[in-house]
Amino acid sequence: MIGVGQAAKRLGVILVFALVAVAAANLRAEQRPAAAHNTVSPDSCPRSTFRVVVDVGHTLDVPGALSARGVPEYAFNLQLARDAAQALRDAGFEQTVLLITGTAPRRGLVERAARANNMHANLFIAIHHDSVPDNLKQDWEYAGLKNQFNDDYPGYALFISNDNADPAASLQFGSALGRELESRGLHYTPHYTLALMGHRRRILVDAKNGVYRYDQLIVLRQTKMPAVLLEAGSIVNRQEELELGTVERRSLTSAAIVAAVEQFCAARSRPASTRAAAASAH
Ligand SMILES: [Zn+2]
Repeated sequence: MIGVGQAAKRLGVILVFALVAVAAANLRAEQRPAAAHNTVSPDSCPRSTFRVVVDVGHTLDVPGALSARGVPEYAFNLQLARDAAQALRDAGFEQTVLLITGTAPRRGLVERAARANNMHANLFIAIHHDSVPDNLKQDWEYAGLKNQFNDDYPGYALFISNDNADPAASLQFGSALGRELESRGLHYTPHYTLALMGHRRRILVDAKNGVYRYDQLIVLRQTKMPAVLLEAGSIVNRQEELELGTVERRSLTSAAIVAAVEQFCAARSRPASTRAAAASAH
């Protein structure tokens, strides 16, 4: 065991490294040429006014789960959310907002929803990375330090709340995002349905695309627009942690987010009568 002071110091050092990596990635992103904005589709959505809030899960001071190699979840969330927000802007969603919160929970969670409500966002996406309950973790040593891992449940997971202002649309977007992730070779983790998850057990509402119901989540239930929480993968899984740290995996997930947002925005922009006709035709 390491002392609390030592652990905090170690966390600080890790965060500094992670943030330097984020800054470098950002610089590269800025040097990238802008992607084509003008994909015209018959029922194209009003991209320039459709506002997506990409919420960076947790805070710098309360950084969430620890990865198998001791990196805090917040560093993964920040990198992926930044990449996803940039990909959305590159696709013409200029109103995309990267939401970074400094206030710790529970107040910070309420604040996230309030900020999204105040800016009249059309869609809220919370970005997280997954872990498992402590009793499912095993010890191992990495770089001479004691860490914990679980290699059993790789994959992403999506969550919606039936207490959200628009649960049907939240599920619609969650399913679209799951479908886009699956079509890019990623797979969701089914372990939230298992009894061993205890009070973290969830109902799988879309068994094809990996969408679970988690009504109590504050950022999903207090938002007045459709809202989804994405666990982008398991950082306690020793193999998946390495993949989640790569630009390639972040690009894949970001591309899935952009494709799902495009579909969702287009579907929402259709007149209600056309939407009903399209729904009955399926
Ligand atoms: Zn989290």
